[in-house]
Order: sequence, then structure tokens, then C-alpha cells
Amino acid sequence: LAPTPVDLVELVHDALAMTALSAQAKQLRIDLDLPSEPVHARGEADELDKVVLNVVSNAVKYTPDGRGIRVVLAPGERDDQVVLAVHDEGIGISEADQEQLFSEFFRSTNPEAVAQPGTGLGLAIVQRIVHRHGGEVAVRSALGAGSSFTITLPAHRGALSS
Ligand code: ATP
Ligand code: MG
Repeated sequence: LAPTPVDLVELVHDALAMTALSAQAKQLRIDLDLPSEPVHARGEADELDKVVLNVVSNAVKYTPDGRGIRVVLAPGERDDQVVLAVHDEGIGISEADQEQLFSEFFRSTNPEAVAQPGTGLGLAIVQRIVHRHGGEVAVRSALGAGSSFTITLPAHRGALSS
């Protein structure tokens, strides 16, 4: 399939709609920093949709009641990249766990994480899709403080520079 322009702003709104019920039930504060115009990544909409949904739903799942999530979408340092960052004030991820996070079926043994249902496939799929798109995914986290997932993808640069 040929890559097409995929509006990440729309995918963020879709992911928030999909997770709205549990975010509301947990009274999470959701803070959005999204541009008013579309932010086009170059790729496959169905796949990038899975990436955004997995990372947003992890933030909702692993953040305790009443705390916050922040989603930021911006052009990259290079103008041929776009960057999506999902920050949470959740349970955090130990350094040892951070090394295994993207392996298939990996789930933390942190009791607060184990309490949540999951298969441990989400981030493995995220990484596979992002790499296939020529992008990168990075995590920064501190146990007990929260986590940030940053996804860099190639921008769709429009007709003149295709
Ligand atoms: P699923 O396949 O349903 O996504 P999962 O959420 O357990 O299951 P991943 O999304 O791959 O699987 O995440 C792997 C593990 O990384 C999780 O089990 C959890 O321990 C940890 N993790 C992922 N995201 C976060 C986060 N935002 N905060 C804290 N821990 C996280
Ligand atoms: Mg997950």
C-alpha cells in the first residue's frame, strides 16, 4: 500500500473518544496541546491509529484516579518529522522494565500494573509499526512519578516535495 497523509490530530481525538469512558470513570485530567491545523504523518492510517490508541490507552490504564495525562503534537526538530508525546502522572516504569517494554507479551511485575488487564502486546505492535514507518518510539519514566512516550514519524510534506 502506498503511504498517504495521515492526520495525527484526528487520530488523537479518535483515541481519546475510544478511552473517554474509562478516563471519565477515573476522573483523569486530560490536557491537550494540539495544533489547530492537521499534522500529517506519512503512512498508513489503520496502522497509525493502532499506535496512537495503544499509547493513549496505556496512559489511561496505568494512571491512578484523579491524576493527569497530557498529549502534545508538534512538528519535529527537523521539518520532515512530526512528534506525538503522551505524558502521564501514572505509576511509572522501572529502568529494568523500560528495557523490556517493547518485547512481545512483556508485562511489568509491578503490582499496580499487574492489577490492570492486558496481554503485553500493545507496545510491541506500536514499535513494529513505528519502525516500519521509518520512525522512532522512546520512553522516559520514573517509578511512582509517571511516564512519557514520544513517537517521531516522517511528515507528509505535500505534493511539491513528494
Ligand atoms: P495490551 O496488549 O492490552 O496493550 P499491556 O498494556 O499490558 O497489554 P503494553 O501496552 O505492551 O501491554 O505494555 C507493556 C507493559 O508496560 C504494561 O503491562 C505495563 O506494565 C507497562 N506500561 C505500558 N505503558 C505504561 C504507562 N503509561 N505507565 C506505566 N506502565 C506502563
Ligand atoms: Mg497496552
